[in-house]
Amino acid sequence: MLQCLSPSRRMVLRISWLGRKLQLYLFCGPGSGKGTQCSNIVEHFGFTHLSAGELLRSEIKSGSENGTMIDSIIKEGKIVPSEITVKLLQEAMVKSENDKFLIDGFPRNQENRLSFENVIKISPEFVLFFDCSEEEMVRRLLGRNQGRADDNVETIRKRFRVFEESSLPVVQYYDSKGKVKKINAAKPILEVFEDVKTIFQSYGPKAA
Ligand code: UDP
Ligand code: MG
Repeated sequence: MLQCLSPSRRMVLRISWLGRKLQLYLFCGPGSGKGTQCSNIVEHFGFTHLSAGELLRSEIKSGSENGTMIDSIIKEGKIVPSEITVKLLQEAMVKSENDKFLIDGFPRNQENRLSFENVIKISPEFVLFFDCSEEEMVRRLLGRNQGRADDNVETIRKRFRVFEESSLPVVQYYDSKGKVKKINAAKPILEVFEDVKTIFQSYGPKAA
């Protein structure tokens, strides 16, 4: 039956169906070890991991028309316009067969949040916030050596300021709704994951 519909009509159907999908947001300052924790969450709880930063980096690599603009924004540690990031997240959700998404590093500011909510029409079940000192995060960022253009001291400092000024207000917003689960991320990886597991088990999504 779907085949009879025009592509745009099909898109509308898929998106309203997306409205029933479970989402979870994950926040933390740059470099607080969320990549590793995301892999653990995917493996144990069956979520699909969507990293907004990774989607943007693939967009640059794909040579898309927005690539150069995205690249220079990331090198400045600033936030890419919402319409670009929301579109990439939406496309990734539509493509996925899963109904549980771990959305990592997004929404980066209140405008990102409103723009995503306007398109996807649901708010997250809960928000994980990985708490870690700036000093420890800088140490991890400089130590990981993934060849990222924004992992230099100058851009890292800018990313922290943007995080404090623009992203923390989003965390505070969700905190005021009682949705934030704060995790001490300064501990070793396995210990942090024990705390993550406790939260997931008490919250509902069952282990896969
Ligand atoms: N970024 C963005 N919007 C997003 C996610 C990422 O503009 O929703 C950009 C921003 O410039 C950020 C960079 O991508 O500094 C890297 O983000 P990522 O989450 O991959 O890195 P992290 O902050 O976790 O080290
Ligand atoms: Mg990231």
